[in-house]
Amino acid sequence: MRLFGTNGIREVVGERLTAPFVSQVASAIARRLPNGPAVVVGWDGRTSSPALARTVSGALMMGGHRVIEVGLLPTPAIQYNVTALGAQLGVIVTASHNPPEFNGLKCIAADGLEVPREFEEAIEQDVAAARVPDTPFHAVGEARTDAHGADRYVHGILSKVDAPAIAKRRFHVVLDCGNGASAVTSPTLLRRLGCRMITLNGHIDGMFPGHLSEPTEANLTDLRRTVPALGADLGIAHDGDADRAVFVDANGRYVPGEKILTLLARDAVRRHPGGVVVTPVSASLSVEEVVRAGGGSLVYSRVGSPVVTREMLARKAVFGGEENGGLIFPEFQLARDGAMTAARVLEYLARSGVSLAESLQDLPSYTLVKQKVECPVDLRVAVFGKLTEASRAAGESPITIDGLKIVRPEGWMLLRPSGTEPLIRVFAEAHDEATAEALARTGLERVRQAVADLRGGGARTP
Ligand code: MG
Repeated sequence: MRLFGTNGIREVVGERLTAPFVSQVASAIARRLPNGPAVVVGWDGRTSSPALARTVSGALMMGGHRVIEVGLLPTPAIQYNVTALGAQLGVIVTASHNPPEFNGLKCIAADGLEVPREFEEAIEQDVAAARVPDTPFHAVGEARTDAHGADRYVHGILSKVDAPAIAKRRFHVVLDCGNGASAVTSPTLLRRLGCRMITLNGHIDGMFPGHLSEPTEANLTDLRRTVPALGADLGIAHDGDADRAVFVDANGRYVPGEKILTLLARDAVRRHPGGVVVTPVSASLSVEEVVRAGGGSLVYSRVGSPVVTREMLARKAVFGGEENGGLIFPEFQLARDGAMTAARVLEYLARSGVSLAESLQDLPSYTLVKQKVECPVDLRVAVFGKLTEASRAAGESPITIDGLKIVRPEGWMLLRPSGTEPLIRVFAEAHDEATAEALARTGLERVRQAVADLRGGGARTP
């Protein structure tokens, strides 16, 4: 039974994700761990998170483990505390940017990285056989609360950036916490960095009354209006568990995640000559271009932060990240980190003495188009077989690290099955929007044709 997706378990609360189910999963985790170092438990700001987290703690204690509850924190802050507290594992109750009805679980290994897929597979096998252990009173583990997780994390970030240089610029920032977990750390961090700051949606509320917690352009209307209205330098927004940060420039323009990824990738290879940068195959070509031009090398991985971070560890990469604003700074920790991203962007602007809009002007200019097309899950393997075969027959050399990526002189397209839905995602990128749209249309047509052929004599697209 597959429970874990690309980023842990994510389910609708009260359907599959009930307290008994969470207890079953946590019991399976407890059985896999040796008795010894503590297990850290932390959670996001969702309405069901404290109850589910306490259920996790209880099951771990029944397994004889010592639990340290670090409480409500951003995901990267919990990851940081797993290593800082010398724990053998972290369990995070979070559904990241999903709508309010969701919640989920995610496991962090002792090194602070998301656990490898093999650990999740072992848990999935054990859940089916889960039973409540017959633990005598004296063998039940203990739990303690650690209230210093937020401070420890903020200090950790401050020790890795040039805080005096940032403070000198006296940035005027509008911070949109989106009613999520960043509210407990990012305002403190920005104040310590000398920013003049106004927060939007700065109180925790699991119903996300400000806007849905995915930091898309459409969801950040208030931030885009507020930044120019207040004459601020820039706006920063996090997703629900704050492992991502996205930006709005002084004119209220939304900066796509791939722009910041490219900016900081170029900066990383300037600071670490010859360094390796890791991105998933879905990332913009602009990253490869600036990394190569800077004398670094770019390594593509499969999609999903657990794979990106493991690849970064193996390659001793100097930087990595995803085009959605989830950036990873290995000098701090191998985790997507929204607050660290905010601090690094401010540091970059402070050092270079430019505005956010100016800093992006000389980056390669590409347009990334994202589309999706329905495809039944049971047809997926056959569809990709057909797509690969057709692509090779057409004389292309498709890249098959994750899905099918076809690179052409004018741009590229990526066809990739969704990890959670009966969809195939189609990404396309080119220097101009019309070419990118045309590539995306080609991709969509190929998928539709493959699905129609497999269903037997469906209508032929031209
Ligand atoms: Mg997230």
